[in-house]
Parts: sequence; structure tokens; C-alpha cells
Amino acid sequence: MSQGAGTTRRLWKFHGGVHPPLHKDISTTLPVRAARLPDRLVLPLHQHIGEPAEPIVGKGEKILKGQMLARPQGYVSAPVHAPTSGTVTDIGNHPVPHPSGLSAPCLVIEPDGEERWIDHQAVEDYTALPPSELRNLIREAGIVGLGGAGFPAYIKYNPGHQKVIQTLILNGVECEPYITCDDMLMREAPQDILGGLRVIQHALQARECLIAIEDNKPQAIASLQQATAGCDDIEVVPVPTVYPQGSEKQLIKVLTGKEVPADGLALNIGVVCANVGTAAAVHRAINRGEPLISRYVTITGGAVAAPRNLDVLLGTPMNALIGECDGDPARIARLIMGGPMMGFALHRHDLPVIKTTNCILAATASDLPPPRPELPCIRCGACADACPVNLLPQQLYWYSKHRNLDRAQEYDLFDCIECGCCSYVCPSHIPLVQYFRYAKGDIWTQEREKEKSDIARRRHEFRQFRIEREKAERKARRARKKADGAQSERERKKAEIQAAIARTQARRQAAMKEAEKRRKAHGRGRQKAMDESPRAPDNAPEKEPRK
Ligand code: SF4
Ligand code: SF4
Repeated sequence: MSQGAGTTRRLWKFHGGVHPPLHKDISTTLPVRAARLPDRLVLPLHQHIGEPAEPIVGKGEKILKGQMLARPQGYVSAPVHAPTSGTVTDIGNHPVPHPSGLSAPCLVIEPDGEERWIDHQAVEDYTALPPSELRNLIREAGIVGLGGAGFPAYIKYNPGHQKVIQTLILNGVECEPYITCDDMLMREAPQDILGGLRVIQHALQARECLIAIEDNKPQAIASLQQATAGCDDIEVVPVPTVYPQGSEKQLIKVLTGKEVPADGLALNIGVVCANVGTAAAVHRAINRGEPLISRYVTITGGAVAAPRNLDVLLGTPMNALIGECDGDPARIARLIMGGPMMGFALHRHDLPVIKTTNCILAATASDLPPPRPELPCIRCGACADACPVNLLPQQLYWYSKHRNLDRAQEYDLFDCIECGCCSYVCPSHIPLVQYFRYAKGDIWTQEREKEKSDIARRRHEFRQFRIEREKAERKARRARKKADGAQSERERKKAEIQAAIARTQARRQAAMKEAEKRRKAHGRGRQKAMDESPRAPDNAPEKEPRK
């Protein structure tokens, strides 16, 4: 526990952390200005965590600045808007800034240089809107976390019906070496940050707001203190400089003393964290009606002669920005998106700036010397002392290296925030974080494979079940048919017998009638004969009896 300089607020400490050389001053001497409009903008459809956006414009279509070009697909997704007016010249795969070095679906725009905006307007009084409507506007504006992760912001600003948000934290810590875009934003546009803070506060109905800034940024602290003067529910909190203080869980611990559960969210403990750049983007969306089409980017490193921050349209090629800062491509030993601790190396220089590009580090060989040969682990424990998540990196390393992934997971591999503190302090130069990334990738691949084989197994089982069921149904049908056949045979015989009986009875009746008829006819004949025969005289002798 400690107190930050310039605040009476009680502060806590998190475990571990390191103090790498920061190299921040080199990019804060020049003011921020807008980057030049390039000849071509490439907009990946997947610039955020979640599902990629789906294009709603066609190739050859004329578009206006701020027009939605691709809509979100599903709940965790974000739309993509036109950074300028012009023509859509292609929709297809293009190289994107990703550690894999692969290409992905993009929209390509040829600017017309006219910067013609689509009709847009500010929300007149956002406090009159229900938080859900405000979140929807933030979603429609395509705003994602600009601190690096790229999680769709509107989801974070939805605490659900049951949760009360006590504290909204604006994260202006920016602890990673070389990166200064948030610092410059805080110095130059504090009102934008404050405007966004108020909107997010309303969306969350948060009770108090803290703006955390590392104490190595005195100008940013002064700027925001001035902007928030008289705001009783907002406190600017300088925090001691230590890497990785800007990680969400570590910052929450420092400011509130609360621990975010390992498998939980900050929301669960009544806290929401937002980056200062995200807050400024929210301000532009709500108070000006402008979607997210640009951001501050630090262009720095020994290979650029005039390192600085530029306000860059999304989709601008990085080599154009390096050129604008008098960079020398021949001197670039490694081009990194982000900082040297958590960023990743890019495989080419013409990749586009995306929503999560906070820094382009054009590093020379002396900025970032090639990794030294890896030596065996000496079990010194320095990595565990430095780990801000209280993990045992040496154990994780052992299990990751030997692909004992179950054991690595038992040692909480997935709690690792890939901050690189362990690698930074390791005397054996073991690239620990690379092992952990690799092991996580392996586990995800295995899980995907397992999921695929589970699906295949379930399909097979269902097929077997279907075959068995059909067999049983056929059998039942046959049995029914047989039973129906036996029944009808019995009925047929019965009917035949009845018909035979009926025939016999009919014959008998007919015979009886005939006999009756004959009998009657016979009786009538005798009578007639008797009537017609000559009568004997009354005195005629009686017939003499035979002798
Ligand atoms: S710091 Fe390096 S050498 Fe020391 S225990 Fe960790 S992995 Fe091993
Ligand atoms: S990279 Fe992971 S294991 Fe290493 S210090 Fe950071 S959180 Fe700990």
C-alpha cells in the first residue's frame, strides 16, 4: 500500500513488475498533427476481438467519409467506416498486421481527396437517452478498446441489470516503453477525454470516476487535472511508474485494492476500465456524430529521424507514416506494432494501421538487439519475482517446452497476460513469453481439433443411431405388414366361408321354394283330374274286391 504523488488516495501494489528503459521522450517533443492522406487505404474487416464485419458496399461504389462500409456480424463484432470519401476499388484478401503474417479480407479505398462527410449529427442531450440506446450508438460508431485489445466497447459498458458499477477507471497509464499516444492525447485533448468519460459514466451509471496516469507524465496529469477541476466525482490519480501497471487487473488492484477473480471480469467487482483513447472516441461519436475512423499513433524508434505522434486515418500504410517521420527503411531491423514488451513483429512495412495500432516501432539493431542465445534455466526464481500475476514462469516454461500442456494449464498458463516481465529478467535469456504463447496456441489448436473430432464423433454416433433407427423402423413396418397380411387372410377365409354358407342357404331356400311350388302345382293337377273324371252312378256296384 502507498500513496501516489499528488493524490491523497490510498494506493495498493501488485506483485512483481519491472522497470525497463522507457524511451518515451523521443516521441513527445513534437505536437500531434494529422497524417497525410495516402493514395490508398486498406481496411481489414477484422480489426477487433470477435466476428469480422460484413461488407455492405460493392466494388466500384462511391463512398462518403464516415459512411458505414461493413456492418457487425453477431454480438461481439464492430462495424467499419470510411475514413475518407472516395471509391471502393477492391474487396478481398490483403496482408494485415497480425503475428501470423497471413492475409485477411479487406476493403480497399481510393480517396478522392475531397473529404466529403456523410450526413451526421451529434446527440443533442445524451443524458436524456437510456443507457442501452447510448451503448447502441457507441456500437454503431465502431468503437473498440483502443488500448490494444480491441474488444467492442459497448459490451464493456453494459453491466447488466443486477450489477452496480461503483468505479469507472480511465486508463491513462501507458506503461509500455516507446508508446506515447495516450500521453499526447491527454496533453492535447483533455476535453475530448472528459466528454467521453461523462458519456461512459452515464451508460454505466457509475458513481465515481478515476483517471489513472503514471507519474512520469506530469504534463498529462496537469492537463487532466485542469480539465476536471470542479468535478467532485472525478479524481485524477497519479500512480507510480512500473510495468505492467496499465494491465487492467493490475491497475484495478492498485487503485481499489480489489482483485478481479482469475476467471471473472472487472464488472463482477463493480469496476469498469476504459482507455483514455477509447473515451475520446466515444466523445467524438456521441457529441459530434463521428464514427471511429482515425486514432493517435506513435511513430518511433531509432530508424525514424523525427519520432512523433500522428492522428492517422485507419487503413493508412505504415511505411507512409514512417516516411512522414523521416524514417529510413534500410535501418529498420525489426518493425513492431505496439511496444517492445507486448507488441509483435511485422513481416512487411506496408501493412495498414488498424483500430488497435497504438505504436509503430521502427527499431534499429541497437534499439532491440537480436536475442542472445538461450541458456539452461538455473532455477533462480527471478521470473516468479517479476510476474505480476503471481505465476511460476519457470514451471510453465518446463511444461510448455516439453509439451506437457495439461500440467501447464494446471499452473494457470491462461492467466498469463504475456507481459514479458519474466523474459525481461531471465538471466538465461530464455524467451519465456514466446514459449507461453506457443503453448497457448498449441492448446487452442488441440481444442479446435478436439472440437472438430467431437463434432465428427457426434455425427458418426448420430449416423449410427439413424441407421439403427431406420433398421428398427423397417423391421417394425415388415412385422406390421405381416400382421396386417395374416389378419386379412383370416378375414378373407371367413368371408369365403360366410359367402359359401350364404350360397348354400340361398340354394336351400330356392330348392324349398321350388318344392313348394311343385307340391302346390301337383295338388292343383290332382284336383283338376278328379274334377274332370266321369262320376259313377250312385247305384253302380262297388268295385269287386280281388279274389
Ligand atoms: S528467471 Fe530464467 S533462469 Fe531464472 S528461474 Fe526463471 S526461467 Fe529459470
Ligand atoms: S509473461 Fe506471463 S508468466 Fe511471464 S511475467 Fe508476464 S504474466 Fe507472468
